[in-house]
Amino acid sequence: MSKDTKWDAIQRVLNQHGSLGLRHFKLLRKLGGGDIGNVYLGKLTGAECLFAVKVMDNEFLAARKKIPRVQTEREILQMLDHPFLPTLYAQFMTNKFSCLVMDYCPGGDLHVLRQKQLSKSFSEPAVRFYIAEVLLALEYLHMLGVVYRDLKPENVLVREDGHIMLTDFDLSLRCAATPTLLKSSPPIKSPKRVSSPCTDSRCIDPFCLQPAWQVPCFTPRLESRTRKLKSDLAAQSSPMPQLIVEPTSARSNSFVGTHEYLAPEIIKGEGHGSPVDWWTLGIFFYELLYGKTPFKGTGSDDTLCNVVSSECVKFPESPMISSQAIDLMRRLLIKDPKSRLGSVKGAAEIKQHAFFHGLNWALIRCAVPPELPKFCDIRSATLDICLHNKDDVDTGEHFEFEMFRQNF
Ligand code: ADP
Ligand code: MG
Repeated sequence: MSKDTKWDAIQRVLNQHGSLGLRHFKLLRKLGGGDIGNVYLGKLTGAECLFAVKVMDNEFLAARKKIPRVQTEREILQMLDHPFLPTLYAQFMTNKFSCLVMDYCPGGDLHVLRQKQLSKSFSEPAVRFYIAEVLLALEYLHMLGVVYRDLKPENVLVREDGHIMLTDFDLSLRCAATPTLLKSSPPIKSPKRVSSPCTDSRCIDPFCLQPAWQVPCFTPRLESRTRKLKSDLAAQSSPMPQLIVEPTSARSNSFVGTHEYLAPEIIKGEGHGSPVDWWTLGIFFYELLYGKTPFKGTGSDDTLCNVVSSECVKFPESPMISSQAIDLMRRLLIKDPKSRLGSVKGAAEIKQHAFFHGLNWALIRCAVPPELPKFCDIRSATLDICLHNKDDVDTGEHFEFEMFRQNF
């Protein structure tokens, strides 16, 4: 992106030193840890730039047979170029560590952000924003032939500008994809969204509930041109063509994912493909709204049993949720993957659902996000780091950093 100065900073180090390694980063604090490694906040030496540096121990990866997973993640990251997905700025490997350098998201992940909400859940408009952005990220991944398979709040990060970034691709499945342009079908009919019409003629909000041909959603200067465009659109007898990107032939038998998010076809070992991402979108949707997942049992086995055999999804009475939201969750949480919403035309089908009625998908990057991270600049980030490090002295974090430094 044109505003991204981080590429210049990386290039400067490359020009100066001929290569890039962990020694060029000051690891300030641990951002999180997962199955295959730890992610640190890193400051590139000689530049005012922060990065997320994922550090994986080669010996640990080999012992746990996780090297193929790291390779998958690296290959996928190299392909990505999308506002809601990470940019891989650099990668390097030594005898001891494999490292990936990516965008740092100061807003943390949606799991932590949800816990910080008073009600431990997000409002419906906030959920609509997050679901819409995640849907676009998944659509792009499917177009590249990547079935993500690991959607959960912990893997959805919040960028400096409040928009999302989907991360963690080591469980993803790669397959062939053949995006196709299709003539559009009529939108899915479901309960009408009850809302007051937007009356502001200067409204440019992509979340304005009235579609552009019903109310003026552009600046007055553009109004006459817009009116003409609207009448042209209305005069068209056939709707706009749809881009269908769903990799419908993708197949895997692996048991991968997080228990509460596993699709029934994964648990049953029947073989699965891209519809697993639409199932997980349904679970994710539910968790953001209600603060819990729909099939959670007393233990893992109980949860798996509920996913496969519970008759229908139960929706709590509180908080009050629109009928459109409930309808969309129901359609995403259909146990038979062939009948699940999205299984034929992928994201294109889901985007047409009434829950998103009036949303301007192309302008979603300009929408005002539900929340902005508290600190964004490097100085306040460094101050925060000083406070963190004071607490970390006895936790072994410093030892870990020292170990890194000695090795690089
Ligand atoms: P793993 O593959 O080992 O699960 P992840 O890539 O999911 O590792 O990262 C683990 C955690 O680190 C995430 O849940 C998140 O809290 C944090 N994290 C990862 N990437 C970033 C980032 N780019 N910016 C901020 N925090 C991050
Ligand atoms: Mg993870």
